[in-house]
Amino acid sequence: MNPRQLLETYHLLPKKSLGQNFMHDPNTLDKIVATAAVQSSDTVIEIGPGTGELTVKLAEAARQVIAIEIDDRLETLLADRLSAYRNVSVVFNDVLKTDIQKLVGTQPFLVVANVPYYITSAILRHVLEMANRPQRVVLTIQYEVAERLSAKPDDMSLLAVSVQYYGKPRLASRINRAVFWPRPDVDSAIVRIDTYAQPPVNVPNDDAFFRVVRAGFSQKRKQLRNALASGLNIKSEVAEAYLHAAGLDPQRRAETITLEEWAALTRIIHEQEQA
Ligand code: SAM
Repeated sequence: MNPRQLLETYHLLPKKSLGQNFMHDPNTLDKIVATAAVQSSDTVIEIGPGTGELTVKLAEAARQVIAIEIDDRLETLLADRLSAYRNVSVVFNDVLKTDIQKLVGTQPFLVVANVPYYITSAILRHVLEMANRPQRVVLTIQYEVAERLSAKPDDMSLLAVSVQYYGKPRLASRINRAVFWPRPDVDSAIVRIDTYAQPPVNVPNDDAFFRVVRAGFSQKRKQLRNALASGLNIKSEVAEAYLHAAGLDPQRRAETITLEEWAALTRIIHEQEQA
């Protein structure tokens, strides 16, 4: 049965407010599992199993699947659908309020999901900012957002810097909206993020780095001198001095700054504040 027939059988309707667009094309589902390179020894966290289409494919490839679903209307449907798979458990909770660390312990794991688009950035933050972060994150997300994740200097955003600080994102394939029911208004893409064991740049700590980056992006399209001054609550002459010390032109904009340049600026500001 496809997701539409399954929901009908259980007298359910998809909820738009939960981003419920169900993927029914087996080839695309296989492509997601292949992109994640799921092995028979892997533990996989799936976010939003929905009617279980991707869950079944993951269960066949992985050692263990832990799926987190917010919609408890799907409880009976998923229990029936997944009853043959002893290596799957479903937790009914908001993923953003779920301590994934607690679910997986200290073992390595992957995150694979067709995410609800209304919380894509929050999900990325939630899974990448964990202390024991996943080895790989493979998500189907809105195509435009997928492009933004692997942006290069001149088109950087807070989201791109955040993702590229934690891992290497790659847009693996474009997905036609027709593979979903109900059909969404946008095309999608499968992205794979291979996380780093250590940050790719030298900074005192994550918090110090993101405090500076967030300040830099706090004022859209403003010169860095002004954005930093307002974001860090300092005088613009002080911001300008920091930027000069880091070898950066104070008139540049946050979108043009590389990860290495953010790191150099973070080190300067951290040193000055500690002095
Ligand atoms: N995995 C299914 C598929 O591929 O067909 C469903 C994907 S659908 C795009 C997103 C799923 O995420 C839905 O099942 C929805 O109920 C669930 N969801 C939405 N918000 C959630 C949240 N905050 N926490 C956990 N699951 C959520």
